Amino acid sequence: MKITNVRSWIVKIPWDHNPGAGMLRDPGSRAFIFVQVDTDAGITGWGEVTTYPGPVANRAVAAYINEIGEWLRGEDPSQIEAIWQKTFRAMTYVGTRGATTAAISAVDIALWDIRGKVLGQPIYNLLGGPVRDRIALYCHPYGNQSPETIVPAAKEIKASGFKAFKMDPMLPHLHVGNASFLDGELDAEVEAKALETLAAAREAVGPHFEILIDAHGLYNVPTAVRLANKMAEYNIHWFEEPVPPESWKALKQVKEQVATAICTGERLHTRWEFVPIFEGGLADFIMPDVTWTGGISELKKIATMAEAYYIPISPHDASGPVNVMAGAQVMMTVPNFYKLECHRYDFSGYNILVDQPLDVRDGCLHLTDRPGLGIELNRETLEKYEVTGAGTANG
Ligand SMILES: [Mg+2]
Repeated sequence: MKITNVRSWIVKIPWDHNPGAGMLRDPGSRAFIFVQVDTDAGITGWGEVTTYPGPVANRAVAAYINEIGEWLRGEDPSQIEAIWQKTFRAMTYVGTRGATTAAISAVDIALWDIRGKVLGQPIYNLLGGPVRDRIALYCHPYGNQSPETIVPAAKEIKASGFKAFKMDPMLPHLHVGNASFLDGELDAEVEAKALETLAAAREAVGPHFEILIDAHGLYNVPTAVRLANKMAEYNIHWFEEPVPPESWKALKQVKEQVATAICTGERLHTRWEFVPIFEGGLADFIMPDVTWTGGISELKKIATMAEAYYIPISPHDASGPVNVMAGAQVMMTVPNFYKLECHRYDFSGYNILVDQPLDVRDGCLHLTDRPGLGIELNRETLEKYEVTGAGTANG
């Protein structure tokens, strides 16, 4: 079997996924990047690199995917490890983070999808077989901007059967969102409002529901320490990315001074960037993103590294149906799994992209024995919402 064609898709679907969060990008729609790998046997594999930050980055990832595709034409798609090594070394001469590794991830996921379809097996059976029968999820609430808005959202999620959600109650009030790290400080009013919102959320869901806090790597060391410790009073399950991802020393300083568990890793790329986390004891949970860190091949390896340190793994969701299914396929086989991130408890935004709805019940994703990823992207939907001239502001 030979690879005959590799192409990227940038699609943008109407989806009010962040109502009320006007400072976030595109509150009324959401862009997705997929990769399609075709073979001469008529089998197609799907990958994804969704939610790379912004249209320029989306185009960069798509361009890298297309370049890898040129190299892979004529290659045997079963040679997943060899292709990973070849593309990784070829693409990362000046560094291993960013769009190149994301493109490699997308292709790797598609190759595992093809392999599963060829063998008639779900990917989890190719990775050693399942150690569980469902994948526990956590999601994000609407309305984390105020105590008034978080309460109905939190109750709705709990009523749906989920047992955990994650929020960043600071983010809606930061003036420029994720780009705001200048001095790493947090405005006192924003901090007070965030704590009120967290208190309301805790009150709404009761003492046993897991509330995760995402700091999005926005703070300096003293600010992160102060915020994490104040939030620890509300029994948060983890405090995520307290400082930007570049400094292990800063993370170490935070880890040593806070009374809550630390999670990090969505912006760490490949197994090598996790070595200092494990060796330095810098996190209680890790959260690599399957579509950013190196794909299914890499996620399985990082999970096994974490297992050796008794660190639970909880894959990040860069938000897309292939992302969720790829992470879930790996986590079916991983003993040290905590929960898989998903964007909303309601999967309707993802389901319009795939051939059958994802099976989510009682806060868990139930996988089937369908081969490969277990889902097929709907090409009519991709064509309908494809961003033409992906280079415009809508890309
Ligand atoms: Mg995060």
